[in-house]
Amino acid sequence: MACEFEIIVSGEDRQGLIDIANLALDEIERLDETLSRFRPTSEVSFLNAEAARGPVIVGPDLFEILRVAKQVWRETDGAFDVTAGPLVDLWREAEQTGNPPGRQAIGEALKNVGMARVLLDDQTHAVTFDTQGVRIDLGAVGKGYAVGKAASILMEYGVESALVSGGKSTIQAIGSGWNVGIRHPSKLDERVAEIALHDQAMSTSGGPAQRDRDIEERFEHIIDPVTGMPARSKAASVSVIADDAMLSDALATAFYLRGRELAKRFPEVRAIFVPFE
Ligand code: ADP
Ligand code: MG
Repeated sequence: MACEFEIIVSGEDRQGLIDIANLALDEIERLDETLSRFRPTSEVSFLNAEAARGPVIVGPDLFEILRVAKQVWRETDGAFDVTAGPLVDLWREAEQTGNPPGRQAIGEALKNVGMARVLLDDQTHAVTFDTQGVRIDLGAVGKGYAVGKAASILMEYGVESALVSGGKSTIQAIGSGWNVGIRHPSKLDERVAEIALHDQAMSTSGGPAQRDRDIEERFEHIIDPVTGMPARSKAASVSVIADDAMLSDALATAFYLRGRELAKRFPEVRAIFVPFE
């Protein structure tokens, strides 16, 4: 998933905890191999290549992600959309060439965007695309899912105090007493808030600086799936605190695009918007 995962465990039995943490890291590795659309042998690559031709039965992780992704897509009026792949590709290419895609190219890509084009069969776990060019991209949610899965493994083995993080963007606490900071997206040495997490996850979506201070990005990497254009967020970053890491990851992306108006519709999660200055 092109990022570092980190697990901090705390407790008495040092070697036992290290072994359990390693099991959780193995699971993250396995998920990366399953969910990355940039690995030609991943399950997602297979799905993207085949599902327009007929139903593809997928494993429990991918099915669960797609099921929740479709629900969040509905609840965010399409702001969160894992079928944004063709648009993400267009703007990624633009990032390399420096030239934004033309209107026609965006229009063509939009024909293949929309979770309504992805049909899910709850009984058989079959997934079918209803147009040829649908491309699933789990960039906004895969990390969150992997963090959540790693945390459940730790809990299954009885770990009572731990922190699991994926890149700088999703972090999940097991137990209480974990204080995590939110950095200012453009003034990275500044902490704008400190949040105490108790069995909760926090995800942050933000502008270029959220990703890497050495990379100067021309275009935002979060795309509005409705217009096909890069996000024009009113906030420099958005952090979402939720019980579930996949949900916090997905909603951070959606709230970054749609702001407080959308966040208000989710009273069960907390959202922290960091202004530009
Ligand atoms: P980060 O990668 O910093 O954690 P996000 O969780 O917001 O940030 O995910 C951004 C990635 O999600 C993009 O790189 C792209 O692959 C994908 N993406 C872009 N726009 C959307 C969108 N509107 N809905 C779902 N996924 C998106
Ligand atoms: Mg996200």
